Amino acid sequence: MTEQKDPSLAAIDQVVAKAAAAADFWAQSPAAVRATLLNGLADALEGQQAELVAIADRESGLGEARLNGEVARTAFQLRGFASEVQAGVPYRQVASEAVAGAPPAGRPALVRVQRALGPVAMFSASNFPFAFSVLGGDTASALAAGCPVVVKPHSGHPELSRAVFELAAGVVRQQGLPEGVLTLVEAASRVGGTYLVQHPDIAAVAFTGSYQGGKALWQAANDRPRPVPFYGELGSINPLVALPAALESDSEGLARTLAASITLGCGQFCTSPGLIVLLDSPLSERFVAQLAEAIAPLATHRMLTPGMRQGFEAAAATVASHAAKVFEPAADGAGPAPRLFVTGASEFIANPHLREEMFGPAALVVRAASVEQVIEVLEAVGGSLTTTLWGAQAASDENRQLVRAAEKISGRVLFAGVPTGVAVCHAQQHGGPWPSSTTPHTTSVGYAALERFLRPVALQDAPAWVLG
Ligand code: NAP
Repeated sequence: MTEQKDPSLAAIDQVVAKAAAAADFWAQSPAAVRATLLNGLADALEGQQAELVAIADRESGLGEARLNGEVARTAFQLRGFASEVQAGVPYRQVASEAVAGAPPAGRPALVRVQRALGPVAMFSASNFPFAFSVLGGDTASALAAGCPVVVKPHSGHPELSRAVFELAAGVVRQQGLPEGVLTLVEAASRVGGTYLVQHPDIAAVAFTGSYQGGKALWQAANDRPRPVPFYGELGSINPLVALPAALESDSEGLARTLAASITLGCGQFCTSPGLIVLLDSPLSERFVAQLAEAIAPLATHRMLTPGMRQGFEAAAATVASHAAKVFEPAADGAGPAPRLFVTGASEFIANPHLREEMFGPAALVVRAASVEQVIEVLEAVGGSLTTTLWGAQAASDENRQLVRAAEKISGRVLFAGVPTGVAVCHAQQHGGPWPSSTTPHTTSVGYAALERFLRPVALQDAPAWVLG
C-alpha cells in the first residue's frame, strides 16, 4: 500500500512546480518586462492602500500611521528595483579579452555574466507586514534578479498576506505573465515551511525572523542533498555606545531620542537598540537618569502576537534575574511597559543570558570602566546588524579602536542618530556577523539585496550569440 502524502505538502509541491515552470521564462525576461511588473505591483499596492492598511492594523496592531508609511516604503522599494533592472544591474557583464601567449599572462577570452538562481522561498517577517512580506524587499529584489518567488506567509497576518497576494496575482495575470512568477503557500505550517526549504526545486531562501526559527530553517537548507543559499536575518541587540563627549551637551535630548527608538513600534524592530554601553562618569550617571525619566512613562501599543508578548516577558524576566532594574515598569498602555536594566561590563561579558535579544520595548545599560572594556563588551556581542557610536567624532587612537571593533561585529556603524529606520538606497548594508545574519556579506535592505539572487557564470571563448 502506498502512503498518502499530507495534502498541505502536496499543495506546496503544486505551488513550487508552478514557480519552477516559470523560472526559465523569468530568468530570460527583458528589463522592460521585469520593470513593468515591479512598477505595476507598486501601483496596485497603493491603489488598495486604505483597505490593506485596515486589514494590517486589525492583524498587527501597528497603527495606521506606521502602516501607511510602510506601504509607501514598499512601493518605493518595488519602483527602486524596477529602476535597477532598467539600469541593467542584473544583466551586467565583465569581459577579459583574450591575450596571446603562455599563461599566466596569456589567456582565453572570458565574459563573466550574471544568471538568476531560480525559485526563491521567501519567509515573510512578522514585524513588517508590508515592507518585508508578500511584496517586500526580499520579493522585489528576487523578482528583479529574475527569480520566481514562493511566499511563505507569516501566521501573524494571514488575511493581509492573502489580500496582497490576490492583488499581486491580478497584476501578474493582467500583464500576461506565467502565474508561477509569484505564488503563495496556503495553510502554511512549520512542517510546511521546512518542507518548502528542502524542496528540490527551491534554489534559495530569504528569511526574516527569530534566531531559533531562522537557525532551524538554515539547518534544513544545509541538510538538503544539495544545500542552497539561505539568506536569513535573525536576532540582533544593536549596541549603542554613548561616550562622555556626546553627553556633555543636550544629553536630555539624546535620552528622549533613544527612549523613542527603544519603544518605537513597541520595540519590535530588528534594529531596536537593546544595549546601551556607557563609560563610568558622572555624565553617564546623569544620562541613565534622563533616559529612565524619558522612557518610563511611554505607553506602548499591543505587540504583534500574544506569542511575541510572552516571548518578550520571558526574555525580560531572564535579564531581570541577572541585572538590576533601573525603575519599576509602570506605563499604562495596551502593550508592555518599557523596561530598563543595568549591569557591569564584566557581568555582561561573563553571562550569555544578558546578551539575549529582548524583542520588545526594553534595553540593558552596561557600565564599562575603560574604552578597552567597551571594546570587550562589543566583542562579547559577537554579531549585530548595527552598532552606534555617539561621541566618536575626534580622530583619536581610542576612537579608531572603537570603530574597528564596531565594524568587526556589525553591518552598519552609526556615528549619529539611532539605528531604527533603515534607508533603502545603494549604500545600505542590513546584515552582520552571526547571529544577526546567516550571510554577513549580503544585505536584505537596499539595492545590493538583488545580488543575493544572481550567480556569476564565466563564459570562455563563447560564440557571439551566447553573449547576446
Ligand atoms: P519566527 O518565529 O522565527 O517566525 C518566522 C517564520 O519562520 C514564520 O513563517 C514561522 O512560521 C517560521 N518558523 C519559525 N520557527 C520555525 C521552525 N522551527 N521550523 C519551521 N519554520 C519555522 O519569528 P517571528 O514570528 O517573526 O517572531 C518571533 C520572535 O522572533 C520574536 O519574538 C523576536 O524575538 C524575533 N524576531 C526578530 C526579528 C529580527 O529582525 N531580528 C524580526 C522579527 C522577529 P509560522 O508563521 O508558521 O510560525
